[in-house]
Amino acid sequence: MNDIETLRSNVRGQVLQSNDEGYDEARSIWNALIDRRPAVIVRASGVADVVAAVRFGRANGLQISVRGGGHNVAGTAVADDGLMVDLSSMRAVHVDPTQRTARVQGGATLADLDHETSAFDLVTPGGVVSSTGVAGLTLGGGFGWLARLHGLAADNLLEVDLVTTDGDIITASDRSNADLFWALRGGSGNFGIATSFLFRLHELPDPILFGPTMYRLEDAADVLRRYSAFIKEAPRECCVWADLMTAPPVPFLEERYHGTKVVTLMQCYAGSPEDGEAILSSLQGGEAIGHAVGPMRYADAQQILDQTYAKGLRNYWKSSNFRELPDITIDKLVAFAATMPTPETDMLICQLGGAIADVGVDAMAFPHRDAGVIVTPGARWQSSADDARCLAWIEEIGASLDEDADGGAYVNFIAECEGRSQAAYGANLGRLQGLKARYDPENVFRQNQNIRPASSTV
Ligand SMILES: Cc1cc2nc3c(=O)[nH]c(=O)nc-3n(C[C@H](O)[C@H](O)[C@H](O)COP(=O)(O)OP(=O)(O)OC[C@H]3O[C@@H](n4cnc5c(N)ncnc54)[C@H](O)[C@@H]3O)c2cc1C
Repeated sequence: MNDIETLRSNVRGQVLQSNDEGYDEARSIWNALIDRRPAVIVRASGVADVVAAVRFGRANGLQISVRGGGHNVAGTAVADDGLMVDLSSMRAVHVDPTQRTARVQGGATLADLDHETSAFDLVTPGGVVSSTGVAGLTLGGGFGWLARLHGLAADNLLEVDLVTTDGDIITASDRSNADLFWALRGGSGNFGIATSFLFRLHELPDPILFGPTMYRLEDAADVLRRYSAFIKEAPRECCVWADLMTAPPVPFLEERYHGTKVVTLMQCYAGSPEDGEAILSSLQGGEAIGHAVGPMRYADAQQILDQTYAKGLRNYWKSSNFRELPDITIDKLVAFAATMPTPETDMLICQLGGAIADVGVDAMAFPHRDAGVIVTPGARWQSSADDARCLAWIEEIGASLDEDADGGAYVNFIAECEGRSQAAYGANLGRLQGLKARYDPENVFRQNQNIRPASSTV
């Protein structure tokens, strides 16, 4: 490798190789199944370091990967023998309350973003676990509790500062490099390294009505049929995700249910709590074994699932989009719930629609505007001794759910590093390939759900 000492002197952040202290911590990401060893890690302190890293990586023919929050389940942040551009030191967030915008650096987490915006009683929609990176989430689309009300994270994006394959610094927005801006909103990490994002902000709904209701697995088929009917009519202030899981030892659940299989309805109503009470009550029915829905600060709700989805377990997911949740899928989910291989495994159903569906499929790269729900079974386990058993279970359920799904898959929930570009980018894949040929003809940024440049073999 040429010029590593020059790289070290050009970079104000850290340059780490395998014998350097901090290397193992820097290469470890959320999914413990991923154990890759980059040749070099550049922990950038700013845009200039990112430029230096890209130029060094290209000059040395190293595969470049980008780490935002390190949450991607496929582990696209890390490549064996490659150069990892680690943005985890670039986490500043600057709120402009007059313009109602937030400027967010490329390594910020949702916790960083919510912390700053909520100080101004403002918010932009993100995801539901606060350690997730803003960058990866937004470049793939990004939805959480407020997406039905205010749209995807990508829908609220106004501008991106980007380091290109040549190490140039450019801005993409509706006014400048508009085609690139189109591609960045759903095209994942294919087009360069985003060093900052500008988001539109909204008034913070505080408090929101938030929390879970839990039912026994025996009642899950009825509960999910009621849920399926409810989400077709629900107002956009309301967002409910269902989860088939093993009950944790939470205080609102009698001890005899701890460790048993349950279905949880995690409910959010981001309007007046009184309206929310009435609307969410129509979702209730049957015999709930635990119920803890009440007023809560949005910032607290954003962290409530952090422990459940903490870093360090081995993970493999399958994910399929559905326009509606069909009975056959409900029955399959309930049957597979009985065979979940570990207590940490779950099967999540995320509700989309509302403001997400207001935007046209061709308005930006994110194509899944008609998905009503995304069903994502996630096998999670602790020991490599369980790899084969857990992987076999997840393959089986994934194949079974796909029989009735609509063929699309959310790029940020795909656990395979490659092979699912058509499912991820759908009707927008052709246009994305054309833009890739223009902005990254040599496919430098390919450690992602890759978009091959049009008419190319690279
Ligand atoms: C526990 C958990 C909860 C989640 N919850 C949600 C949720 O509620 N809603 C949702 O929509 N998604 C959710 N996700 C999925 C999440 O959006 C993806 O994992 C996403 O890739 C995370 O981004 P990251 O920056 O943390 O990931 P990283 O692993 O750091 O990056 C993933 C990829 O994104 C690209 N990338 C990252 N940063 C940059 C950058 N600055 N410039 C260019 N490319 C970049 C690169 O291609 C990189 O390989 C969740 C994931 C986990 C593990």
